[in-house]
Amino acid sequence: AKVPAGSTIYTQAFALTKAFQDDKSDKKVNLSVGAYRTDDGKPWVLPVVRKAEIMLANDETLNKEYLPVLGLEEFTSASTKMLLGGGSKAIAEGKVISTQTLSGTGALRVAAEFLSKQMNFNTFYYSAQTWENHGLIFMNAGFTDGRTYRYWDAEKRCIDFEGFKEDLNNAPENAVIILHGCAHNPTGSDPTQEQWKELAQIIKSRKLFPLFDCAYQGFASGDLDKDAWSVRYFAESGFELLCCQSYAKNFGLYNERVGNLVILVSDPSVIPNVKSQLLLVVRAMYSNPPSHGARIVAKVLNSPQLYEEWKTCIVTMAERIIRMRKQLREKLEALKTPGTWSHITTQIGMFSFTGLTPKQVEYVVNECHIYMMGTGRISMCGINSSNIDHVAQSIHDAVVK
Ligand code: PMP
Repeated sequence: AKVPAGSTIYTQAFALTKAFQDDKSDKKVNLSVGAYRTDDGKPWVLPVVRKAEIMLANDETLNKEYLPVLGLEEFTSASTKMLLGGGSKAIAEGKVISTQTLSGTGALRVAAEFLSKQMNFNTFYYSAQTWENHGLIFMNAGFTDGRTYRYWDAEKRCIDFEGFKEDLNNAPENAVIILHGCAHNPTGSDPTQEQWKELAQIIKSRKLFPLFDCAYQGFASGDLDKDAWSVRYFAESGFELLCCQSYAKNFGLYNERVGNLVILVSDPSVIPNVKSQLLLVVRAMYSNPPSHGARIVAKVLNSPQLYEEWKTCIVTMAERIIRMRKQLREKLEALKTPGTWSHITTQIGMFSFTGLTPKQVEYVVNECHIYMMGTGRISMCGINSSNIDHVAQSIHDAVVK
């Protein structure tokens, strides 16, 4: 399937948020946007972020000079280490280079331009479905052939693993395969470790190129190492790969635009060439990145004490989401809403694919003031103790109608 040009899906989340803001009802709930909310429905600045910001504000050695084109070195190196692990052989062997980017989106855009312009790759695959921006980013970066691989079995509400494998097996050599490192958006369903191993085998034998989108490290399990398993497995299996990191979700730094693009090669002698190509891509795109968010992340990742504090913040966020999953499922089961609802607790990360049809979604949005994506995806973060009954009852009403 080709990427539809100018599809409104690309802006749906923002349009829904605008409709939510304009809605005067006191029952309104926004389940469309992928941002964490506390149980009071408020955005959360992580306490460890505040602490780091105060330290930065008091540090008079810092100034507002430009950062280097590839960003703040103490940020990119700590970020790469967090992704690949402290004991990473690839890092020790000098096979990795990274560049600070404008969050995950910017990492994807730099990655796509690098792959299109320097590697001459032209075909990319993304999961059906995926985060709505993947196709647009790659097409704008010079790719001309965007295709989907099967991922979600809507009927069984699980991964269509056979379809996934078949589509990879039929992909042309050098096709870039966009993989979600963990907490797949929008389905909330990841391959198992055994399945990742099978996928790696196919990607290797078919000479495909893996690109990991890692926007939710920590959000799937609450454990940063566990959530990096897929990327680390590919890295340790000798793949060349790209990985796009975002600190929007796990640090709550949405508007600071902090990201990192990691490039792993098999021959360390090509790193200087890769570096000069990266410099050209970034120089022409935005010249150099902003410093504030990267300094916050660098401060936390490089301080053992702040790092521990950050991990407790991630657990707070992950646990609240898990609690909401459990309660929503229990409430739907108690209401005897037709269908099965176990997928709400088996799915992981920020999102749940409810399985509601477009008509049911329409009912929930128009009649119940609950804003959600047309695909039936909801952000679990928008649910809290005060609105969960309304959400469950509305889903129930939409299904029995
Ligand atoms: N990839 C995926 C799968 C996402 O869900 C998101 C955020 N919604 C991103 C990348 C990028 O987000 P950001 O640019 O805010 O880091």
